[in-house]
Amino acid sequence: MKVLVSACVFGYPVRWNSSSRKDESLKLWAKKVGIELVPVCPEDELFGTPRKPIRLEQIKDTEIIVGHMGGKDVYRTLMDKCFEIYKRDNDVVGFIGISGSPSCGISVGVKGRGSTMKAPMHLQSPVPTVEISSLRSEKNREIFLKRIKKHKEARSWTTMFTSV
Ligand code: SF4
Repeated sequence: MKVLVSACVFGYPVRWNSSSRKDESLKLWAKKVGIELVPVCPEDELFGTPRKPIRLEQIKDTEIIVGHMGGKDVYRTLMDKCFEIYKRDNDVVGFIGISGSPSCGISVGVKGRGSTMKAPMHLQSPVPTVEISSLRSEKNREIFLKRIKKHKEARSWTTMFTSV
């Protein structure tokens, strides 16, 4: 089973300041349960590394989200890139992100919003997603594994019925 993972969690130095957030235990667990991790970094693909950090903001009295990056709004570009990533790797069955990232986090702080929101890799995802912090417990790993297996099974049924 192929699962996308934030490239910085996989160990690539692709964060805005060229650092990583490598998690060796994830790799060991993935190998043990038959998951092939596929590292992906939407920001590095779009802007390279190092780059300026992105800050999300909701425009007052609207639902419009802006992704500030060095004076530019990159939110729409980021959403499109994440959509493209899932299209490109359409046999993946899950995504593992990292908390706090405006691209790969589940509960990201947004200036002027009063609540957190999912970042584009979760918003655009057609597969089950999670953050690495929640995969530190065996119980949560089991839950995620069940979710991606269920997704894989549902997709094979869909493929079977749409290909006849
Ligand atoms: S965009 Fe995602 S993969 Fe890339 S550095 Fe940020 S959190 Fe890591």
